[in-house]
Amino acid sequence: MLINTVDKRSANDDLFVPTNGLPGFEPISLGIIAALTPKEWEIELIDENFEDFTDTDAELVGISAYTTSINRAIDISVKLRKKGVKTIIGGKHACLYPNELIEYFDSVLEGEAESVWVDIIKDFENNSLNKIYIGEFIDLANYTRPRRDIFNKYNYEIATIQFSRGCVNNCYFCGVPVLYKHTYRQREIQDVITELQEIKQKYVFFIDDTIYCDSKNNQIIKELFVEIAKNKINKHIIVAASINIYEDDEFLNLAKKAGVKVLYIGFESENIDDLKNVNKRMNYKSSSSKYTQAVKKIHRYKMAIMGGFISGFENDTPEKILKRGKYILDSNIDASTLTILTPLAKTPLFESLKKENLLLHTNFPQDWIYYNACNFTIDYNKNRDEIMNAFYSSSLNLINCKNVRKKFFKTLIRTRSFATAKALLVLVKNFHVGTQNCWIVKRIIK
Ligand code: SF4
Repeated sequence: MLINTVDKRSANDDLFVPTNGLPGFEPISLGIIAALTPKEWEIELIDENFEDFTDTDAELVGISAYTTSINRAIDISVKLRKKGVKTIIGGKHACLYPNELIEYFDSVLEGEAESVWVDIIKDFENNSLNKIYIGEFIDLANYTRPRRDIFNKYNYEIATIQFSRGCVNNCYFCGVPVLYKHTYRQREIQDVITELQEIKQKYVFFIDDTIYCDSKNNQIIKELFVEIAKNKINKHIIVAASINIYEDDEFLNLAKKAGVKVLYIGFESENIDDLKNVNKRMNYKSSSSKYTQAVKKIHRYKMAIMGGFISGFENDTPEKILKRGKYILDSNIDASTLTILTPLAKTPLFESLKKENLLLHTNFPQDWIYYNACNFTIDYNKNRDEIMNAFYSSSLNLINCKNVRKKFFKTLIRTRSFATAKALLVLVKNFHVGTQNCWIVKRIIK
């Protein structure tokens, strides 16, 4: 059995909880594990975005968890081990803190599964599982395409696919450079095309941390877009990108031809000092005055933008947070996520705050449930209630039905593409579960 965990104690259905899994998106890593498992094995997936795990008679249970859901993973494992079921934990948190987890699981998989999963299975069959397995970073020319049949059980609206792993940037709050040790790798283009041809959903989300990289790697991404168009893949594609993508007309044009409909861009803040403090280089080079220009340009290529924004910077006040919410609402950005600045495990932000004794919750692993981007975890000596009230008020305002509807029609007008506006709405619906009952969402997404 493979379990994608969600910790209800940490989840917040109304807001965006990026570190606790997203409903509607296929858990691709478990699809890869399934593909690596010998064919004669019977595999069942439990995705807690759809149903809670209760019990199983499986012999081996692989559990995947983010940092915020690690306590749920621990609870499941403790229960299963009591009745003799072997458990293995993998995923981001296991890569970052393998030693923290040793006592709760039979095995901990640190790193990428591809290079060690076959050994794990053999060791299990020989009743000789090791406590820790270290998976090396693989050459993505040897990528294993996920077994998508295990996803059939649930109604995933958005298929996920991966072209690259890692990121060339180093934003201090981001877990990606830490996880991938500042490396960046890409897959073979033809293999990605074959995988896209296997996907049945209309909406495809590239889970790459950013699709817009540096000049050398962007050249290969452009080739990927050319091949997607040439092979008439005909999907509505969503990617994450950095703001400087707007300066590259050739890239935007090829992305459009490949079917890219929505760009998720981390704007983080409109304030240059905030951006400098978290080393968001490409943004402060662009500066907030250029945000408007960037969004306008991207709209010309019939693509919409979901912007990621952060609250709770060192210099933030409740007034500033409310102002940021208003800025997002009044801007031409089509949709947004507003989260609280969170020192994700092992990031430069986490380490420096830990050194200065500024972390509010340090009783780990229990306290990881607070690190979900919707809680205040930094002791900035501020009135936390006021900050949280401003954050909630801004966040909920951005995703209330009236504003979702307003933004939808504006996107339609600005991009002059119904397919783009609809793709954006599909993304909004799956990011912000609370919008599922909005009239516009129900009406447009049948
Ligand atoms: S926030 Fe985005 S651009 Fe910055 S390091 Fe993370 S993935 Fe890269």
